[in-house]
Amino acid sequence: MSQNIDFNAFVKYSKSAPRYTSYPTAVEFRESWNDASYKEALKEADSTSLPLSLYTHLPFCRSACYFCGCNVVYTSKEEKKERYIHYLKKELALLKDSMDTSREAVQFHFGGGTPTFFNARELESVIGLIRGVFTNFAKNAEISCEVDPRFFSREQMAVLKENGFNRLSFGVQDFDQRVQEAIHRIQSVEIVSNAIALAREFGIESVNFDLIYGLPYQSEQSFADTLQKVVGLKPDRLAIFNYAHLPWMKKTMRKIDETTLPNPAQKLEILKNTIAFLQEQGYMMIGMDHFAKKSDELYLAKAKNELRRNFQGYTTRGFSQTIGIGLTSISEGLGYYSQNYKDMQEYEKALDEGRLPVERGVKLSEKDILRKEVIMGLMNNLRLDFEGIEKRFGIEFRVYFANELESLREYEELGLIQITPSSIETSPTGGMLIRNIAMVFDTYLQNDTTKRFSKTI
Ligand code: SF4
Repeated sequence: MSQNIDFNAFVKYSKSAPRYTSYPTAVEFRESWNDASYKEALKEADSTSLPLSLYTHLPFCRSACYFCGCNVVYTSKEEKKERYIHYLKKELALLKDSMDTSREAVQFHFGGGTPTFFNARELESVIGLIRGVFTNFAKNAEISCEVDPRFFSREQMAVLKENGFNRLSFGVQDFDQRVQEAIHRIQSVEIVSNAIALAREFGIESVNFDLIYGLPYQSEQSFADTLQKVVGLKPDRLAIFNYAHLPWMKKTMRKIDETTLPNPAQKLEILKNTIAFLQEQGYMMIGMDHFAKKSDELYLAKAKNELRRNFQGYTTRGFSQTIGIGLTSISEGLGYYSQNYKDMQEYEKALDEGRLPVERGVKLSEKDILRKEVIMGLMNNLRLDFEGIEKRFGIEFRVYFANELESLREYEELGLIQITPSSIETSPTGGMLIRNIAMVFDTYLQNDTTKRFSKTI
């Protein structure tokens, strides 16, 4: 998709839009959805044959990276981890009572925070608790962990390997010293290189790097230098995110001097150069932010329109029911989203009272489920076939979505998409604007999206 992108058109037509990791988006989650709602949804889901995708949130970080938009608890207190494990155990026991935990798990992911802030023994203990409850991991399950290269030891790697981890994702962000100082995250190429070498030594076959463009002091040249170093370390996949500066939502972002941020024109140049350089190096763009080698299963799945995204990222597996475990984590079924408390005290209180720690969520109507399928279909594969949707929901796509297709005419006239009798196709530039195309199908969106959602560039 990276060939022939018209970057001027991309900038001209891009608007603030949700990233659509869920539909409806998280701003629609309500507190009327509670632990009783979630338990009922879990029971219902047991009657489906959906496989499970397990997500466990390990929320602690030793210090703040100023660009970070994650839900994080900053601490240097070691004892907080033991306490957290104690509460994870309670949550897992409640899940065991609320659902059939012997269903097959095809994905397991440790996210954070900094999962590797937990030492080897602590990681082993958390994995043991989860495997003690969810007993049926598929032989070829995708088992992954986010790794901060600054906190990653041989002992931790050994525990991950023993427990079947086969994918690691490293937070790299940028290698430029000045940028690193401004974002409060210092890590040398050597630290990252040693971490990768360790992963490879233990036979990890899939290594992903997260990078960010749009950070303070970044220039075309500095980011080109970073990319040069990155490809030298030979990751299998790359996620390159656009930094969304939202200081009104994230306090730590207020520590970033806005005058040092690259302007939109500079960011666009960085993006252009990045796509071109990575393509030269054999990394193909598979979605807005993701790149993979041509031989990678993600690229092959995209070619067959079989790519799916969930809260854990892209996967080649079909839809699975996500069970979020831990502070702030989000669970997803066919017809609901359920999010745990973000506040540690509330999280612990619920568990002390014997309740699943659900803060809010949403039950999807049949209409929501249909629109979710359309929006996710577009977001996942940058195109959409009508046939599967028509069969599943008993509708005639062109009739049911006549107004939406009419709204998309504007994009069609610009050559960004093509609406055929049976599909919506995107041009390479249209693919870059997929969030804007998908939002046409979103009935929840208010007119003012500028503050709630980040800009595409
Ligand atoms: S980027 Fe990672 S290490 Fe840094 S604050 Fe966010 S979660 Fe923690």
